[in-house]
Amino acid sequence: MDRIPLVHSSLGEKELAAVAEVFSSGWPAGQGPRGKALETQLAERYGVGDAVALSNCGAALHLAMLALGVKPGDEVIVADYTFPAPAHAVRYVDAVPVFADVRADTGTVDPQAVADLIGPRTVGVIAVDTVGLPADYAELNSIADRHGLFVVEDAACAVGATYQGRQAGALAPVACLSFHGRKGATSGEGGALITADPALAADARLRSSFGIGSIFDQAQTVGLPIPVFTDIGYNYKLSDIAAAILQVQLERVEELLERRSAVAARYAELLADEELLTVPHVPQDRTHAWQSYVVTLDRAVDRGEVATALRAQGIGSGHGTWATHLQPVYRSKQRCPVSADLFRRNLAVPMHAELTMSQVERVVEVLRTALRTSASGRAA
Ligand SMILES: *Cc1c(COP(=O)(O)O)cnc(C)c1O
Repeated sequence: MDRIPLVHSSLGEKELAAVAEVFSSGWPAGQGPRGKALETQLAERYGVGDAVALSNCGAALHLAMLALGVKPGDEVIVADYTFPAPAHAVRYVDAVPVFADVRADTGTVDPQAVADLIGPRTVGVIAVDTVGLPADYAELNSIADRHGLFVVEDAACAVGATYQGRQAGALAPVACLSFHGRKGATSGEGGALITADPALAADARLRSSFGIGSIFDQAQTVGLPIPVFTDIGYNYKLSDIAAAILQVQLERVEELLERRSAVAARYAELLADEELLTVPHVPQDRTHAWQSYVVTLDRAVDRGEVATALRAQGIGSGHGTWATHLQPVYRSKQRCPVSADLFRRNLAVPMHAELTMSQVERVVEVLRTALRTSASGRAA
């Protein structure tokens, strides 16, 4: 049986060769020559002032909260339908995440919901490019400007996506990227903070290395400089090994995304007439990075049964992402009905750059049968 996994990282010979070079350079740790080169590459790619290479996107979000000066008790409005990293980051600094519901058609944060939640303690908004689809930044940035709030773009899944012709990752004053193994460009684990504000980047960079400057840089200067700790920082550095992998991956983003886009187009074509599910909607003014391909099942279908039927045929699937406000850790009394509904009904089907069209066709065939069986079983 041909097993078709939900996700698969496209790492190959070029990435291996880049790692071998780091081994022989003698500097595998963070903030070395490869990390610097990666930061330059990222800043150029996004056309912004600075990029800070970090160990993961969760760290980037944490450093963004610190650099933006979020204080205990402040309220930060977060998109609800997402991997809950944004709300976690708000809690890292003892601030209060306020959950904003999402658009039913895109799963991205609803700008009206954000506007309705602004109160005297609100300091900012974290929007999410949901599984790779950018949110409504024109509206979000204008609401934030009117109220003097910051906007952070969680572009963890969106490397390669665009909004009104601009790259995801450059759609808000601060953006956070993930290079986790399940994202479109990866070094296994990895992340970055992208910003036009040099002071913000400097703050994040310093706090990412225990509150001292680059040890590699210090070693290059003459004499015996003793680093000075000016902050209680963290160790959120990206290793130069990971940076080398990412330099290769970033060069391949367009090629890999082209393949994922072809997979998405084929799914959409084959499932267009399927009444028991809705395929993803991509508004005219943006493009999707297709980190996941998430369909919304009809209420007549039992999602667990469909997942079981897919698994029996060796096909991976997933629940999509989370309704953050429903996670027990938040003990939230808020309601985000659209997000809760997507959390119940969405199903992620295999999506990666190595899928063949015949595999996509087989997924659709098994999926269609499973949908029919489940819907008729429930009707009976
Ligand atoms: C994956 C993900 C994260 C976390 O990224 P890490 O690099 O694993 O820390 C954050 N936000 C969103 C929206 C994600 O999908």
